[in-house]
Amino acid sequence: MKKALVCGAGGFIGSHLIKRLKKEGYWVRGADLKHPEFSASSADEFVIGDLRDPNICHQVCDRPFDEVYQLAADMGGAGYIFTGEHDSEVMHNSAMINLNMVERSKQSGVRKIFYSSSACIYPEYNQMDPDSPKCSEDSAYPAAPDSEYGWEKLFSERIYLSYHRNHKMEVRIARFHNIFGPEGSWNNGKEKAPAALCRKIAETPDGQEIEMWGDGKQTRSFLYIDECLDGIRKLMDSDFIGPVNIGSEEMISLNDLAKLIMNMAGKNLSIKHIDGPLGVRGRNSDNRLIHEKLNWKPTRPLREGLEKTYLWIQEQVKKTNHRQSIQ
Ligand code: NAD
Repeated sequence: MKKALVCGAGGFIGSHLIKRLKKEGYWVRGADLKHPEFSASSADEFVIGDLRDPNICHQVCDRPFDEVYQLAADMGGAGYIFTGEHDSEVMHNSAMINLNMVERSKQSGVRKIFYSSSACIYPEYNQMDPDSPKCSEDSAYPAAPDSEYGWEKLFSERIYLSYHRNHKMEVRIARFHNIFGPEGSWNNGKEKAPAALCRKIAETPDGQEIEMWGDGKQTRSFLYIDECLDGIRKLMDSDFIGPVNIGSEEMISLNDLAKLIMNMAGKNLSIKHIDGPLGVRGRNSDNRLIHEKLNWKPTRPLREGLEKTYLWIQEQVKKTNHRQSIQ
């Protein structure tokens, strides 16, 4: 039986990944500051601990795991990483986790380690035009990410690559592009655009108005969690180190994303555009490399994953309203 360690096991992608690994027959240890918020973890063991502390990393990674998935990071949506208010924490916390975990994995003889980087590493100068952003893997340098979150991810990619070069560690690096789905942050200030829009649309009565940061013409692509997990597992099972994009190529403006969700919800709401933290003007995954190396790329339409996510968030909104009404 393969043994895996998932760091960031209480988070959105980590908790879903553990469910997947258990289905595949792995023995799994999860580690995080917290348990998953929305359902019990499927991990065989769950360690609550702070991975900024090398002693905790020592305890958590105490054996030559077949696979380590390093997903733990100080992270959130635009409201968290683009305001500038959390820059020092994001850089310090996430860099500490990565420095500790890669070194500890080397010491423990871990066979393979996965690192979750981000599309936020791509240079701002290639993402000014919302209609044709450039995010091919080889466009990462000269580096110019638009956030400290992106700089830390790029630095940590380089840490993992250096351990591969100097210590022959088997590393795999993916750059995720906006992963979404049920059981992700939806109302705690760390939610991203799909969850935030689903929440606003679920909360607002038909005919009224929702607010959106920016003019809504900024573009992004969004990948449903199940396809992200397919990508992670395919990369781990391959000989390809990466870094490689794991994202969707179905680019959409934020205005059109809101309209798509309204359509699912059967609501007609107007959009009030307000100032807010935005990030780059355009971003889309470029899946040529993953297709070439792994003969795979995500294929499911955005709408399919959004429907599942909207239904889940609508349920959370109803539960919250019910709780408030009986208090
Ligand atoms: P998440 O915030 O839901 O999960 C991250 C987890 O890390 C949280 O549960 C958090 O408690 C944990 N953590 C933070 N600091 C810790 C510490 N000091 N010790 C132990 N645990 C700690 O985020 P997610 O969406 O599941 O993302 C997982 C990874 O993928 C992150 O590294 C993130 O940067 C990366 N990523 C995610 C996306 C996305 O769209 N979700 C996009 C690009 C990259």
